[in-house]
Amino acid sequence: MKVPLLDLQAQLEYLEADLIAAVTRVVKSTRYIQGPEVEEFEKEIAAYSGTAYGVGVTSGTDALLISLMALGIGPGDHVLTTPYSFFATMGVILRLGAIPVFADIDPSSFNIDPARMEELLQADTERKIKAIIPVHLYGQCAEMSAILALAKRYELPVVEDAAQAIGAEYPMAKAEAGGYPKAGSLGIAGCFSFFPSKNLGGIGDAGMVVTQDKDFAEKLILMRNHGAHPKYYHKVVGGNFRLDPIQAAALRVKLPYLERWHGQRAENAGRYDHFLRETGLVDAGRVVLPKAVYAAASGAKNASARVHIYNQYVLRVERRNELREWLGKNDIGCEVYYPVPLHKQECLGALVSGVHCPEAEKAADTTIALPIYPELTEAMQAFVVEKIVQFYN
Ligand SMILES: *Cc1c(COP(=O)(O)O)cnc(C)c1O
Repeated sequence: MKVPLLDLQAQLEYLEADLIAAVTRVVKSTRYIQGPEVEEFEKEIAAYSGTAYGVGVTSGTDALLISLMALGIGPGDHVLTTPYSFFATMGVILRLGAIPVFADIDPSSFNIDPARMEELLQADTERKIKAIIPVHLYGQCAEMSAILALAKRYELPVVEDAAQAIGAEYPMAKAEAGGYPKAGSLGIAGCFSFFPSKNLGGIGDAGMVVTQDKDFAEKLILMRNHGAHPKYYHKVVGGNFRLDPIQAAALRVKLPYLERWHGQRAENAGRYDHFLRETGLVDAGRVVLPKAVYAAASGAKNASARVHIYNQYVLRVERRNELREWLGKNDIGCEVYYPVPLHKQECLGALVSGVHCPEAEKAADTTIALPIYPELTEAMQAFVVEKIVQFYN
């Protein structure tokens, strides 16, 4: 049996006709820049994430970059973030001449640890830190209550990197009328990626910034079009960060499936949890299951809360590199997100030195992601677990 890490062919079986119709619609419309598909998709994502405005952009990376640009982050500024994320989170800081400051992660969630953030903010007597970027890693929100409290105390904007967490709920003490707030709705900016492997993936690159703030949305709209208003009159320097209408049209085909896909991923995660517990590997401490850290908080009040959307199902394991090789040899797709923590990346050179984030370093050495995509079958999951058992025996 072959189990790929992600199988887009499996969803193409039921999406192909609609995707082709959507692309054809754009082709025939001749509206190739901005236009109704982009505008409708922006409204749909804003509504879905419980925000007032959606501004479509070229990618998740550009969603982060344009947000920092709109906040005026520039050379010499410090930006507080996590050392354990995809490179883009740090890359956008560096591209603006700013310097990342790393607060280590909480080992149970892999997300930035507010206690470490507080230490760094307290130590920042010159107030060089100008923004905070928490990442909702693998599909589960960072501890936003504590993060927002720190942001308020230190008067800092929060840019949520919600690239892996669209639709993930954050069960704050008080649920709003429409349910718990969602990833991306709590900071000044929520950044989504529609890279094909995200829970909502396009047929190419795409991204969006959502916000509750009208002025901020207007700044983003200006900046994504070279800062031009009116045309050829440039108030500020932006860039070409416009969302392609072909991507918007394709994503509008997929959005109605998103809740179902979240549900299927959560079901698959529950099944892995169950299968792996039965093997005894969890009790023996060789495998640590992913933890939905807010499950208990949301459970009693709202059984359908999506506190984890499982963009990735990530285990901590013994002998990770050998296991990875073994699974690969057995035609099972797996991946390490991420093998090198951000503060250890070569491109930093001497810019960031002497940083210690032992939890991020430990995570980089011990984690492994298993296939979790919605169409994964129970038989495939059983096969994956069987091979893991064989490896440890
Ligand atoms: C995917 C991802 C991004 C970047 O998104 P792109 O659309 O690929 O540019 C940024 N941050 C995180 C955490 C991601 O997973």
